[in-house]
Amino acid sequence: MTERYDVVVVGGGLLGCLTAWMAARDGAHVLLVDKDQVNQHASGQNAGSLHFQLEYRMVEAGEEAARVAAEAMPLHLDAAGMWARMEDEIGEPLGVRQTGGLMVAENSGQVGMLEFKAELERSWGLDVRTLDRAELDDVAPYLSRDIVAANLSALEGKADARIAAPAVGRAAIAAGATVRARSRLVGAHRVPTGWEVTLRETDRAGGERARTVRTAAVVLAAGVWTTELGRVFGAELPTVPLALTMTVTSKIPKFIPHLVQHAGARLSLKQSLDNTVLIGGGWPARLMRDANGVPAFDRKHQLIPQSIAGNARAAVNTVPALERVPAVRSWVGATTVAPDQLPLVGAVRGAPGVFVATGGSAFTLGPSFARVLTDLIAGRSPDIDLAPYDPARFAEGSVS
Ligand SMILES: Cc1cc2nc3c(=O)[nH]c(=O)nc-3n(C[C@H](O)[C@H](O)[C@H](O)COP(=O)(O)OP(=O)(O)OC[C@H]3O[C@@H](n4cnc5c(N)ncnc54)[C@H](O)[C@@H]3O)c2cc1C
Repeated sequence: MTERYDVVVVGGGLLGCLTAWMAARDGAHVLLVDKDQVNQHASGQNAGSLHFQLEYRMVEAGEEAARVAAEAMPLHLDAAGMWARMEDEIGEPLGVRQTGGLMVAENSGQVGMLEFKAELERSWGLDVRTLDRAELDDVAPYLSRDIVAANLSALEGKADARIAAPAVGRAAIAAGATVRARSRLVGAHRVPTGWEVTLRETDRAGGERARTVRTAAVVLAAGVWTTELGRVFGAELPTVPLALTMTVTSKIPKFIPHLVQHAGARLSLKQSLDNTVLIGGGWPARLMRDANGVPAFDRKHQLIPQSIAGNARAAVNTVPALERVPAVRSWVGATTVAPDQLPLVGAVRGAPGVFVATGGSAFTLGPSFARVLTDLIAGRSPDIDLAPYDPARFAEGSVS
């Protein structure tokens, strides 16, 4: 007999696990499928920064671009509150610490940008203070003397990307969701009650079988595979894929309590609960492509030595003590942004009952994305206006 669900969530990253958990708690009969393993991709490979200030990539293109990016602030504020409650609600550690985040500046141009940014963020309700050098001596004595000011958001911090999605996946199962790994959604067609989707399942020995299930709703929580998966539902969901570099150091006694970002360089760093320092911030890696130049997301992307070195230089320039801390491993993860830096969140035009969320810092914003997706699945209107994040905003003829 054909299995029937209220919602099939496609993707077992943090977003898919959160959506399955929340929808199951909401009373929905949920199936989550992942073509690989839970947390195998971006959600398990990222820097774990919970950043609610605008990031460097959002301010480097100037004030107008920053104003557009700031339209995601309602999602940032919502997510900040949800992360603070999440470990209690899930009932397992997720490595969440919201002990504050600094975006640092080392010249007057960057300070001017910080002042503009802080005012913009405050206009959206995010509490951000600009600290001068004397205040930084107290708050963050580990920073280089070249740092002259910083924006501080007390809400920022980190979670542990290695454990967050698996813990949420277990909570989803406890709430009644079914979770299937090695199950790839390969086809979909409309039926009177919603969608019939075809899943290609692989067993441990490599054998394959097809399974068909019926569902009223589908959530695309597929990260870099979103554009490809959208086509299965006849939808154009443009995303820009990025392969990014991460590095982790050996352990060093705790000395960095903050998330640290830079206003004029690609840099994010933080000290994890295991005392290692995670260094990232958007340094490119080589995204693998097929013979036609199409991104091949199932292949292993490659590190670029210059990116590892540039990222390390930015880290040491900002936190000089890191010069004496050996790096132990670098790796690549792939993620998506949208052309305007705002996420894609909402109903998929032309595919009734199909919803999507991706783009940008979907680890930080995952709880907020999942909450609004859960409302959409249940037919409720989310309390956050999703119009700026309309997945159809890049379609021909749409007015933005
Ligand atoms: C190096 C790096 C550092 C980053 N740092 C941060 C950070 O510090 N803070 C932050 O907020 N964000 C960060 N990000 C971005 C963040 O990691 C992603 O936005 C987020 O993890 C996306 O989560 P997701 O659940 O949507 O997607 P993913 O974690 O990519 O999961 C998508 C899942 O969908 C599955 N899937 C795809 N197609 C199918 C299909 N047809 N059938 C079944 N399953 C399918 C995949 O196997 C995958 O497991 C970083 C990204 C990278 C790469």
